[in-house]
Amino acid sequence: MKRHIKYIIVHSTATFEPKVSQFYGLFHYVVERNGEIKRIHHDVQIIKNIETVDSDSVHIAYAGGRNKTGNLGDTRTPVQEEALFNKLVALSVKYPSARIMGHDEFEASANCPGFPVKEWLKNYEPEIALA
Ligand SMILES: [Zn+2]
Repeated sequence: MKRHIKYIIVHSTATFEPKVSQFYGLFHYVVERNGEIKRIHHDVQIIKNIETVDSDSVHIAYAGGRNKTGNLGDTRTPVQEEALFNKLVALSVKYPSARIMGHDEFEASANCPGFPVKEWLKNYEPEIALA
């Protein structure tokens, strides 16, 4: 069954990066530190993450989001940042009416993904120039 996607929601996995076993079940996609994108669930599946919008959302996370001292924050590597950006571009082509949001725009207390998504999208310039 096709879903009507209204939101593409950006998260962190809220884990300390070198941790080996991580739980990715809350996301459709996870971007690893080396830029590899893992598909965890198909887009058609509804994932339990943010109850009020789950039925209309695709959830994507970058692996990390927690530093050595255990605090939440932006831990993205440059390749991870670029892979996340490119995946968001691809998803917004696939779902043209969807809005890209940060988890914290729905639940401010979540402190997830650890950076302001809209500002980042507005200002980010990928390293690889498309000729
Ligand atoms: Zn989140």
